[in-house]
Amino acid sequence: MCCDIKRRFLLLYATQKGQAKAIAEEIWQQAGVHGFEADMHCISEMDKYNLETEKDPVVIVISTTGTGDPPDTARKFVKKIRDRTLPPDYFAHLQYGLLGLGDSEYTFFCNGGKTVDRCLQELGAHRFYDTGLADDSVGLELVVDPWIDGLWLALKEAFLLRKEKEDMSSNVNAVSSSLPAAPYVVHELNLSSEVQNLKLEDEGARSSDVLSQTSVDINLKPSTRDTEPSLVHSVPPVSQSALNIPALPPEYIEVQFEDALGENPHLSSLISEGAAFEVPITKAVQLTREDAIKTALLLELDIAETVFDYQPGDAFCITCPNNANEVEELLQILGLSEKGEHFVRVKVKQGTKKKGAAHPQHIPERCTLRFILTWCLEIRAIPKKAFLRALVECTSDGGEQRRLQELCSRQGASEYTRFIRDCNVCLLDLLHAFPSCKPSLNLLIEHLPKLQARYYSVSSSNLYQPGKLCFVFNIVEFPACPTRPVSRRGVCTGWLADLVTPLLHPKRSATDTKGGRPSTEKISIFARPNNTFRLPADPSVPFIMVGPGTGISPFIGFLQHRQKLREEHTDWEFGETWLFFGCRHKDRDYLFKQLRCFLENGTLTHLKVCFSRDSSTAEVAPPKYVQDVIRLHAKDVARVLLKERGYFYVCGDKKHMADGVSDAVVDILSMEMEVDRLEAMKLLATLREAKRYLQDVWS
Ligand code: FAD
Repeated sequence: MCCDIKRRFLLLYATQKGQAKAIAEEIWQQAGVHGFEADMHCISEMDKYNLETEKDPVVIVISTTGTGDPPDTARKFVKKIRDRTLPPDYFAHLQYGLLGLGDSEYTFFCNGGKTVDRCLQELGAHRFYDTGLADDSVGLELVVDPWIDGLWLALKEAFLLRKEKEDMSSNVNAVSSSLPAAPYVVHELNLSSEVQNLKLEDEGARSSDVLSQTSVDINLKPSTRDTEPSLVHSVPPVSQSALNIPALPPEYIEVQFEDALGENPHLSSLISEGAAFEVPITKAVQLTREDAIKTALLLELDIAETVFDYQPGDAFCITCPNNANEVEELLQILGLSEKGEHFVRVKVKQGTKKKGAAHPQHIPERCTLRFILTWCLEIRAIPKKAFLRALVECTSDGGEQRRLQELCSRQGASEYTRFIRDCNVCLLDLLHAFPSCKPSLNLLIEHLPKLQARYYSVSSSNLYQPGKLCFVFNIVEFPACPTRPVSRRGVCTGWLADLVTPLLHPKRSATDTKGGRPSTEKISIFARPNNTFRLPADPSVPFIMVGPGTGISPFIGFLQHRQKLREEHTDWEFGETWLFFGCRHKDRDYLFKQLRCFLENGTLTHLKVCFSRDSSTAEVAPPKYVQDVIRLHAKDVARVLLKERGYFYVCGDKKHMADGVSDAVVDILSMEMEVDRLEAMKLLATLREAKRYLQDVWS
């Protein structure tokens, strides 16, 4: 095979938050070293490629968003390949490898990738390489890195097979063979354990025929005193290994400071998802007692002066800033304290080697430095390995350089997971731990992701409280730990909590503001309707709601709505309603004691409550968690779901609660239908598909 002619393959990415794009760019970059040329496009740029006539292998990197949907950029593509009128051999000529990105804590893990994979298979396309499914909940890199390593050999094999086929057909002078290229099975890629990952890495290293990484020699002797590794300290074998580190990502951003004054862009210009509204916070209530483990707040927004509308069950988004102290600290470390209010012009660097380098959409062309660090960049994001690699170049101390190299190397993969990913280390933590690291502003813009707006479920009904929107949240707290000596609060919930202090403690604030009235703060919100998490269209259909902790939030909206409908339509028939609620302590965090009112006026037929941390003197201990209470009502749950074709809604914590609840439902279905667990799981899947088992869960 001729080595100086680069073999082309088509590389498509479908990204929602930029991860799939970043991985595609990594593939694009490595391709050259391996003798390939990646023709890279966003999957939405359908005028730039044509799968119907594509002869070269196709590599697709695709993420998942919402409830198992492909990214917005892939919608048109998916619609096209889902077309039922296409013949089953439509893509018989096509060879592809697909890498799906997802989060296994969500129900429809990697569904964006799985959907595209399935459609391509149904249309006759052949996999030249096993599909990889990377899981963000344990670290995308556990699958992504070995998948990329194996890709080169699989591509080589695919080209060889193609050539053999071409040679054969020209020799025999026969019609082209209909044999599909045998998929090159590289690894079982859907991994979750680190052990498997390490094994894979060994294999990957053996199978990879071209070294894309730089080898770094050992330059640090391990200290005999410290035998335990930490974020800043390594021990053998990592400290003594030659390292395979990723290639240095090319810089592509240029920033210029300007003296001229001006105004920062409006926050609404940062939102591409639709119209943004500035609305005042009119009420704040602390729903938990001071001694509760978590603090839950209810905020009321006045939306009367806007066209913002919602249905119970919808979520909406809040645009939030980074913590002002952290921004200040970052400015100081960057040596830019004096320049916070200076205007910055952000441009793509001329002659950059980065493929498809473009102005990041979340950064205005011109705004102040403080605006960028406050509103545009997720400064708390966990730094990716490519960012660590780039930081090595801005670090002057040799020991610190080596440790950063280790953390982004193949040999340090498990330490990256342990000391960075699992500890939620952010850029500031790194800059404190590695004081000689002084990154430039352009590096931050290149590597920090967009500061995402936060979602909240609406906790009110526009029928019940016209012109108002309520929502409930826990103030997220991250305690201090060895890698982070300071405790922190969640970006959005910490900010909101500070913002509403005057409303929560008017007396205290009045003294602070010398007797003045607390000001009405405004926040910027935009809609994110949820078209499935809705009350049944037919009010006579019964439904069950499961919402422990702040998961109760959308159900307050459901119940308010239902109460109003009952008042307005006395002749309608209304189905039975069940609510399962749970919290830690009856006295401290029972968020909505007024649930009793819904019960008394008949809006709620059954209210079942449990308290996980209250001690009991009863002979038989009461159930602790909502899933335990649900099991106690197995017959009713089965009746509502199976006989009466009712709905089942689950809202709240996805890690601990949602799986426990679906397990309980599977057990109930299995018991009541007298079928084994597998059959019961299939039944639950059918209910999910019919949108009668609905989840709105978050971490
Ligand atoms: P962030 O700063 O974003 O931190 C959030 C998470 O990041 C933590 O939970 C943790 O997993 C991780 N993390 C970050 N830094 C650290 C660290 N140093 N140590 C440990 N972990 C860390 N929330 C509600 O309270 N009420 C709702 O009604 C609600 N509805 C939602 C609806 C939807 C559809 C979705 C997707 C989410 C919903 N959420 C809701 C969650 C909400 O969007 C936010 O994620 C949550 O409020 C935390 O935001 P934050 O900015 O304060 O926290």
